[in-house]
Amino acid sequence: MLDCAIIGGGPAGLTAGLYATRGGLKDVVMFEMGMPGGQITQSSEIENYPGVFREEPHLTGMELMEPWPKQCMHFGLKHEMAQVKSVSKSGDIFKIVADSGEFEAKSVIVCTGSTPKRAGFKGEDEFFGKGVSTCATCDGFFYKDKEVAVLGGGDTALEEALYLANICSKVYVIHRRDAFRAAPPTVERAMSNDKIEFILNAHIIEAYGSAMGLDGVKIEQDGKEIDLKVSGLFVFVGNNVNNGVLKQEDGSWLCDLNDNGEVVVDLKMHTSLPGLFVAGDLRVDAAKQVVCAAADGAVAGMQALSYVQGHL
Ligand code: FAD
Ligand code: NAP
Repeated sequence: MLDCAIIGGGPAGLTAGLYATRGGLKDVVMFEMGMPGGQITQSSEIENYPGVFREEPHLTGMELMEPWPKQCMHFGLKHEMAQVKSVSKSGDIFKIVADSGEFEAKSVIVCTGSTPKRAGFKGEDEFFGKGVSTCATCDGFFYKDKEVAVLGGGDTALEEALYLANICSKVYVIHRRDAFRAAPPTVERAMSNDKIEFILNAHIIEAYGSAMGLDGVKIEQDGKEIDLKVSGLFVFVGNNVNNGVLKQEDGSWLCDLNDNGEVVVDLKMHTSLPGLFVAGDLRVDAAKQVVCAAADGAVAGMQALSYVQGHL
């Protein structure tokens, strides 16, 4: 019987493991289907994790995360390289079904993150992390005083376009319709920002460039092709929350989720089910930043410790 099972080995899962084991839990296993590190390891540049900064060449996400597993496992955290299929609870005991076998645990911390949706145009995968991005807070600064494009017409796209307009010389918003999902006041603010230009009823045919990065995007609008020379393209077409492990055999959820599929937690990362904690991008109102996911993990690790020791 594990004291705690952690699902996901990104910044939240690793930090949860560090705090749970260093706090005194003995049998703590982190189920991570790949190498630990999480989605930030896909990023070619990170400059907003406090205390770790390199101007040139930029610190990569892989470099940031490289020392984390060693430190987090120093106090006894074990890594099970396996994909978890489901988590359920019977009485006080959690059951974890992974592709490597079945496990029982007294507590569970789910840190499976979220995955930005891809739009599906040509070149999107090829230039992902080399000009194509899904995070303006992370990557916007690299395009200071340059022209960039944003794809999408939801709240995220327009809010991030406004954020980018503070940094970049021009922001083109490419949207497939002329009506928006974003809230009307947000649309109004974006429309009245003179750095933002809308390209509506349009779709991206292709993102193109070289080994050095993105050079531009070809767009189709009203049967005409537009060639937009931008070195940054931000894709905001929604997010997939990785909540699948919480789905039960009868189709219900192990704990409360909101309408977007994000897990409802309180400030201590408690879900609606005692002994089940959620940290990082998977939770409601997540800022979707490494520093925040790590902080959530620390809170969840400490709470799992208190739960197993009977202090909650
Ligand atoms: P994740 O990092 O998503 O980790 C989840 C882990 O769970 C993954 O390793 C996954 O393999 C594993 N997993 C999922 N499901 C299962 C399962 N069923 N079984 C086993 N394992 C599973 N943030 C910043 O602060 N600054 C930046 O500059 C920045 N840049 C970014 C650039 C890019 C390209 C991307 C994609 C993200 C960026 N972010 C940045 C956001 C940051 O990476 C995330 O907010 C953070 O990684 C979330 O951490 P997490 O631990 O919640 O989830
Ligand atoms: P979203 O609301 O689902 O919007 C996604 C946008 O991307 C839509 O405009 C959609 O176009 C477009 N799109 C989807 N697939 C596409 C594709 N393959 N190619 C081109 N365009 C595509 O996602 P979101 O903006 O990330 O918001 C998610 C949720 O969080 C929403 O409920 C939103 O209200 C909420 N949110 C709220 C706030 C806030 O309250 N301040 C901020 C951010 C997000 P169509 O419109 O044509 O479908």
